Amino acid sequence: MEIPTKPTIAIIGHKNSGKTLLIEKLIKALVEKGYNVASAKHIGRKGHTFDMPRKDTSKHLEAGANPVIAISENETVIIRKNHIDRPLETIFENIPENVNVILLEGFSGQVLSNENIPKIVCVKNEEELREYKEKGKNIILFSSLNKIKHEETLHIIEDFHQILEKTIAYIENQEQLINIYKDLPGLNCGKCQFKTCLNLSKAIMNNKASKNECVVLTRKRKLKILVNNKEIPTTPFVEKIIKTTVLSMLSTLKGINIENKQKTELKIEVKT
Ligand code: SF4
Repeated sequence: MEIPTKPTIAIIGHKNSGKTLLIEKLIKALVEKGYNVASAKHIGRKGHTFDMPRKDTSKHLEAGANPVIAISENETVIIRKNHIDRPLETIFENIPENVNVILLEGFSGQVLSNENIPKIVCVKNEEELREYKEKGKNIILFSSLNKIKHEETLHIIEDFHQILEKTIAYIENQEQLINIYKDLPGLNCGKCQFKTCLNLSKAIMNNKASKNECVVLTRKRKLKILVNNKEIPTTPFVEKIIKTTVLSMLSTLKGINIENKQKTELKIEVKT
């Protein structure tokens, strides 16, 4: 995952630093402003389970069902028994389409040095502030429930409107970047001067480049692949392998003559 699929802000910090209070206030304020917010909370307690022992869902799980889905009049809970080693990807893969902001609580280990996920760090004192400043990348601001003498630290309650303003500015910024990125092939082939699709997206956002810098998009292609009407970008190398393999396989079939043809169109329908 190069960048999140939706604007994502992480609220991180040590225990009792005000993370839950801040995320609660942010969710409420963003929902009031019309955002569809999804949130994810990291639970670090070893052996934690959401299942209730001796309840029916627990019996389903013990019998081997995976996942177990519990639906009541007001809630739907999906319990999956697995070890997730890519927690962020799992979150992004399960976010409904209509969501336009994701707030993460915790996940320090995954996001602290990830410069593509902006973060608000809750601290209790200056020592914690120094600690995060040294290790963290792309920190929007520090916030605290205590008075801390540091110009970048905002009080979770007294300065909340400033925290909200900055958060919204970052959400809008990320949204713009994600939309630009989605228009590029996402192949990271390294063939343009920006080397990665994300770097070119950032340059486009800062008006320092245009989509035409992407050589995959601009070069004359010898193979066009559409899957369910969606064009799939390919590098020249992959293009060559697919073209040679598919055409040589087809040319062995009876009644097919694709030699010396300027253009060959194939349609493959796969039923699963
Ligand atoms: S040439 Fe295009 S696909 Fe390749 S890294 Fe640059 S932007 Fe990405």
